[in-house]
Amino acid sequence: MQTHNLGYPRIGSHRELKKACEQYWSGKITNSDLHTAGEKIRKANWQFQKDAGIDLIPSNDFSFYDQVLDMSLMVGAIPDRYHEVILQKGGNELDLYFAMARGYQQDGLDITAMEMTKWFDTNYHYIVPEFTNNQFFKLFSTKVIQEFTEAKQLGISTKPVLIGPVSYLLLGKEKEAGFERIDLIKNLLPVYLEILKKLDSLHVDYVQFDEPFLAMDLTEKEQNAFTYVYGEIKKALPSLKIILANYFDCFGANLELALSLPVHTLHLDLVRCPSQLEDILDSGKLKANVNLSLGLVDGRNIWKNDFQNSLSLINKTVQAIGEDRVWIAPSCSLIHSPCDLDLEENTESLPVEVRQWLAFATQKIEEVVVLRKLAGKDTSEEILEILAQNQQAVVNRKTSSLIHDEQVKNRVASVALGDDQRKNSFANRQSLQKTALKLPLFPTTTIGSFPQTTEVRSWRARFKKGELTQEVYEKLLEDETKESILWQEEIGMDVLVHGEFERNDMVEYFGEQLAGFAFTKFGWVQSYGSRCVKPPIIYGDVHRPKPMTVRWSAFSQSLTDKPVKGMLTGPVTILQWSFVRNDQPRSQTCTQIALAIRDEVVDLEKAGIGVIQIDEPAIREGLPLRKADWQAYLEWAVRAFRLSASGVKDETQIHTHMCYSEFNDIIQNIADMDADVITIECSRSQMELLDAFAEFNYPNEIGPGVYDIHSPRVPSKAEMTQLMEKAKAVIPAANLWVNPDCGLKTRHWEETRKALIEMVAAAQELREAV
Ligand code: GLN
Ligand code: ZN
Repeated sequence: MQTHNLGYPRIGSHRELKKACEQYWSGKITNSDLHTAGEKIRKANWQFQKDAGIDLIPSNDFSFYDQVLDMSLMVGAIPDRYHEVILQKGGNELDLYFAMARGYQQDGLDITAMEMTKWFDTNYHYIVPEFTNNQFFKLFSTKVIQEFTEAKQLGISTKPVLIGPVSYLLLGKEKEAGFERIDLIKNLLPVYLEILKKLDSLHVDYVQFDEPFLAMDLTEKEQNAFTYVYGEIKKALPSLKIILANYFDCFGANLELALSLPVHTLHLDLVRCPSQLEDILDSGKLKANVNLSLGLVDGRNIWKNDFQNSLSLINKTVQAIGEDRVWIAPSCSLIHSPCDLDLEENTESLPVEVRQWLAFATQKIEEVVVLRKLAGKDTSEEILEILAQNQQAVVNRKTSSLIHDEQVKNRVASVALGDDQRKNSFANRQSLQKTALKLPLFPTTTIGSFPQTTEVRSWRARFKKGELTQEVYEKLLEDETKESILWQEEIGMDVLVHGEFERNDMVEYFGEQLAGFAFTKFGWVQSYGSRCVKPPIIYGDVHRPKPMTVRWSAFSQSLTDKPVKGMLTGPVTILQWSFVRNDQPRSQTCTQIALAIRDEVVDLEKAGIGVIQIDEPAIREGLPLRKADWQAYLEWAVRAFRLSASGVKDETQIHTHMCYSEFNDIIQNIADMDADVITIECSRSQMELLDAFAEFNYPNEIGPGVYDIHSPRVPSKAEMTQLMEKAKAVIPAANLWVNPDCGLKTRHWEETRKALIEMVAAAQELREAV
């Protein structure tokens, strides 16, 4: 029985990689300093896994930015627009690489970055490969070889990890018409073979191919590509041992295909899909020379493994196929886990009792090794003690009063049919709201946050360190809020926002005030490039001990006669951007959060707030990988939003906001959310995203974003009226709002002021034209 790991976090437990990259980008360290920083991280990761007792340790799981971009560079899929960079930078591969990731504005060049999108259903973002008709591939970067050699010099014979050729193509995008990217497989395969031959000549034993598209719906052509690729690899390199890794879901309809491939080991994600183990063992189709790698330790979440449960899966497999053919592993790469639980101190935000239920990447590696020892009937005192402690933590979690709150469970159980419905239809509500709010045609608003200046952030930091009293801190925030309210009034904004100056992050802010959430200090996970996030941990039944935002909304409303929007994060987004419980369905946790938000909505209304926005930017990213599972998810997700929004009277206007979404295939569900107003990101697509709403005859009001908040560029009034003219052509004018694409917290005041003045003027012009 062997242990192996699919990938280890490369950011460094103190985000060393983030810091080094950012220093390099700002010119503070040299290229060779950055390489040294990378080497240090790789070495520490390899050494740790070796010392822990992992048999097969991955290499090429390190990346300066993204593993998909690494592959694009390996196979030379470098879009033409970067050729100038190659010319200017000569052989400097890293600068070309960063230019592709981040764009290049230097030396008279202005080249856009490659697109970025989410890695399956995770919060990790990868750089989307760009393909053209007859795309040509050639071996360009030999990073995978360099890293193997580097580890070898440290005395560690690693298992290089590559994204499999089929998944690599499917992760990309056709940049011109006239071809299907999967047809490029014949051009692509020779480069893979070239690399494999080089690895083979260095006496590499195992290569891991990640093919997570095996967890997705595949066309026949795509399925055939798998058969072709792995058949050819076997032919060219008969003695190389290929580990084929699928994760994030079952093989499903691709199971027979997977079992037919001539590989050495098949990796299964038994956390996401435990049932597939029996399917495989019972199928009789597992070839006698293929091993199974059991992905038992959850790479996507922070919970401790339940050893007893894992052991029964291991034992079942051993009985069926024999010990020698069973491998033990995490379910997927550990880049989706925080690094090391041992860095955390016991604090109020992470009580000891909660902590004993957790395992981060470091601990997960140790779990894999312990599982192997347990399965190998290691009965040393030490191992038995570890098992006992593990089972104690499992039992404790089942009964802990920190987790289980009868009141919350009862409330969820007693939610009745119709509790998720507003009192009357949108048509009725719309006319009541028109009278109550007295808004002009094309009302203007913003999405919530105003610039989080260095000053604002420094107040929060000083308050947290105890350098500012609560009183002083709140006074500073009040002044900032007041200034923003008065300014919005002055420029003629119709529906104001308080600015969210008191918030660090749209999920953390609420998590900190809700029961059932824990927070780490160093629980960073890579989101993209050098950006890391620190998701809260939802460990227990969620409820709202007391109002969370009423104080700031009521204060702001007291300063003006114009409506000030109450500003909340929706239940699906809070769920989606946290580590969630694995001891109950996600839908259950989401309903609990929805009820907590509902209480806040009702309290805001009581405090005289007539417009309340519940942000749900993460609805779409929660979609399951397979279409067949979409409807079930959308049903509970939409219901959770409705539950949070429907406790108010008809006159109270509920907004929602979604950025980076496409709506075509979920427009019915968006309509089912029944928000009175939805604001969406639209400017970068030139209002194209509105078409879905137009074709559907979307009945409620819409604010299509008229300017891109991701850039400091100030849009002109003319640009924005033009975009609104486009919107007017497809959506009734009476239903249109004028607003930016998203919140303004990352912008500076200077451009924000100018842009919003232009935006209000654009709305004015639209009204005059009626
Ligand atoms: N209200 C939030 C803000 O303005 C919305 C952020 C988001 O959609 N990502 O910052
Ligand atoms: Zn947004």
